[in-house]
Amino acid sequence: MLKKITTLFISFSVLLIVVACAGTSEQSLSSPASTTSRDLASFIPNVASHTCYDRNSEPYISVVDAHMHPRPFGGPAVPFAEMNDYFNNTGVRFAIYFGIGQVLEVDSTCTYYLDCPGTKALPSIKNDFANAMQYDIYRDTHENKDVHIVLSMSFPDLAHPEHVVELIHLYDKEFPGMFKWAGELNVIKQALLKNGHEPATIDSIDKWAGFMKILRERNIPVTLHSDLGNDKDPTKFVYLMKHILKQYPDNKIIWAHMGLSKELATMDPAIHIKIMKSALDENSNLMLDTSWRVLYDTYFFKPEVEKQYIAFFNEYSDRILNGTDFVASRSKTFEPRKRSCHLLQQPKALYLKVFLEH
Ligand SMILES: [Zn+2]
Repeated sequence: MLKKITTLFISFSVLLIVVACAGTSEQSLSSPASTTSRDLASFIPNVASHTCYDRNSEPYISVVDAHMHPRPFGGPAVPFAEMNDYFNNTGVRFAIYFGIGQVLEVDSTCTYYLDCPGTKALPSIKNDFANAMQYDIYRDTHENKDVHIVLSMSFPDLAHPEHVVELIHLYDKEFPGMFKWAGELNVIKQALLKNGHEPATIDSIDKWAGFMKILRERNIPVTLHSDLGNDKDPTKFVYLMKHILKQYPDNKIIWAHMGLSKELATMDPAIHIKIMKSALDENSNLMLDTSWRVLYDTYFFKPEVEKQYIAFFNEYSDRILNGTDFVASRSKTFEPRKRSCHLLQQPKALYLKVFLEH
């Protein structure tokens, strides 16, 4: 039965619609952080077993990880089956498997780009292919899957998009119908500048038209990492996302980390929230991604700041995707994963569900 249901899920074209069911109560804020007992079947809309999330009685830990990387920038990864056990153990039922678009040079022994400035970390198809092959083996050999995995293309070089369409066709040939998401793609990621990252420009964004058309036609959302700015100039790069949203109003676009980063750790949350609100209000195709523990460590952990974000998230609860941004390097074990789930799947008032569109 479960196999049948999982197959059913996989056969759908996937669209994430995030729904926080109505009603915010103080009681829910103090609910225990235990994991859900829901299985995949309970999320199929329009079937008898489908029930809406009840904030008053169910845990607030999300069943969705809309941003994780099953392979590291370099070096060995957590084995695929083990990674999926992590999800089972934390109650995650839906996971978007991003490649690491920017893999480190093959002859480098480095596993994390910040540890090796000067070593190139450039867009590549390697990671996506590894994920797809592992996933293919996994789906054929594991009977009791209770995690719905969505594969994501992370190879496009947004500063040099000339070959993206051609490569999507290569993916179609090698892995027909398997990639249903795009991202995380880097528009501007300041942390990677010392590893050869070239930010997109107004000119290169205009050249995305060909591949954005394919994503649109296939109803494939794209998650973009686009730093807002830095502590010196907090809105330095906002114009890039503005231009993207103006040029591609019919693509589903997710703004990773709400534009925050280690380089922008001191922004006034009221100003940040104002920018996010106006972007959401002006662009109905936009969603925000609250992943990465940097957001917790620099903003959400402060009660007075958390309060402001919880109010914002509740107001826009059907436009927020959460995730961990866990990078599954073999040097990590289940503990950090567990911790990042509990810390990052905040705010407490928010609960997200995934529905799949036929
Ligand atoms: Zn990420």
